[in-house]
Amino acid sequence: MNAVGSLILVIDAGTTSTRAMLFDREGALRALSQRPLQQHYPAPGLVEHDAREIWTAALACARQVVTQAGGADRIAAIGITNQRETVVAWDKASGDPLARAIVWQDRRTARDCEALRAAGHEPAIQAATGLVIDPYFSATKMHWLIENNAEVRAAAGAGRLALGTVESWLVHRLTGGSYVSDAANASRTSLLPLAGSDWDEGLCDLFGVPRAALPQVCDCFGAIGVARADLLGAPLPITGLAGDQQAATIGQGCLAPGETKATYGTGAFVLANMGGEPPRSAHRLLATVLCQAGGKRTYALEGAVFVAGSLLQWLRDGLGVIDAAPESEALARSVESNGGVVIVPALSGLGAPHWRAEARASITGLSFATSRAHVARAALEAMAMQTRDLAVAFARDGADWTTLRIDGGMSANDWMAQDLADVLDLTVERPRFVETTALGAAMLAATGAGLHASLDDAVREMRGAVETFTPAMTFEDREARIAQWASALETV
Ligand code: ADP
Repeated sequence: MNAVGSLILVIDAGTTSTRAMLFDREGALRALSQRPLQQHYPAPGLVEHDAREIWTAALACARQVVTQAGGADRIAAIGITNQRETVVAWDKASGDPLARAIVWQDRRTARDCEALRAAGHEPAIQAATGLVIDPYFSATKMHWLIENNAEVRAAAGAGRLALGTVESWLVHRLTGGSYVSDAANASRTSLLPLAGSDWDEGLCDLFGVPRAALPQVCDCFGAIGVARADLLGAPLPITGLAGDQQAATIGQGCLAPGETKATYGTGAFVLANMGGEPPRSAHRLLATVLCQAGGKRTYALEGAVFVAGSLLQWLRDGLGVIDAAPESEALARSVESNGGVVIVPALSGLGAPHWRAEARASITGLSFATSRAHVARAALEAMAMQTRDLAVAFARDGADWTTLRIDGGMSANDWMAQDLADVLDLTVERPRFVETTALGAAMLAATGAGLHASLDDAVREMRGAVETFTPAMTFEDREARIAQWASALETV
């Protein structure tokens, strides 16, 4: 294959950094440029980004990798992946932001959410959108901007308001006017019904979001828009769009029902492919659009654990038990068992499937024989136990995991990867190339640009080698761990 015009430019607009990467059609990373993104914390619980900074950083990084590649004629298409749920308000006519972007972590709408819950709206919203009522999702953030920002309100009154998530903002700037949001990102707003092709008028009214300010819902790959020629040196087609967790699920090749990925970073995000019918969770997992093409959707169930790698950070910075997170691996191997020590890492409450905001962490089973190695081992073991709780909830919702594909900074820990396989009694796969989010966006864009005939082909050609961890724990040992964890959970 001629290299000219076959590279994929991926823009990854993350929470803490903005990056541009170049991939070839076999999935190899050819270039990378990255800029940190400033975090604004105007008050406790509030988190904001400057949307203009996201755009200028994305453009600067993209220009840098395009230059490294030898010019825009080496690029076949653009794929975009992004932090999800974060809301940008801008003027459709000028393309200028009207306020700081409200970031997914921002809790300012907690009271609005409580009011909606108290009014009994949660079951209907969950049935329609697959999401619980929480400040995390975009709709209450959009309403907050209209209520509290005079410029946003004025733009809404004048019919110039655009309210979109980050991919929508970037596409608007890149194309000089297209106003779209892919179904995977749109499914995180609380305004898109899982089974409906467009925004729901009733949900827009309920959340107080003007329908006219929302973008057009589009596919995750295909002809999405064309970047202006003056920006990168040629009119480059945008052919892939997806939120970060969905992109990572695709980058991990989870295209068949039951295929599941878990990202272990600060927290852990688990998504299981659920096939073509909207899933319903009876265990407070989230149902979400995984991918849409030709108007046809694939769905996922999603569960988040609040504390994963941050437990190791706390052992390092808060307790001084370890010097660095990777040290936990050698420490865990240096002892034969946890010595009775169990950590329930509810440092900021418990997420899915427990949803106990008031729970606080515990370390149980300490004795004079306990060493820091036991504590480090218990910390790593907590990852497998939390993941198992999710696996049980997913199974009860009809999503039996067939494999678990792991990524994220913490997945580098071989001991943890093996423990996951042992406790889940499931094969665990870890790709050699762990930038699965960007790779997933590249797969979508490559397929959308016709470099691969289907997403399945893109996955086959681009995914690369994986390492495999197979279960090796005895039934008795597994049951003992599960019982030990269950009694520790009762104490938090
Ligand atoms: P995020 O994307 O959330 O910023 P990363 O995917 O970069 O997070 O992962 C960083 C986290 O992984 C940190 O919390 C760190 O403690 C943890 N981590 C990194 N390497 C290891 C390791 N070898 N063993 C255990 N934890 C690790």
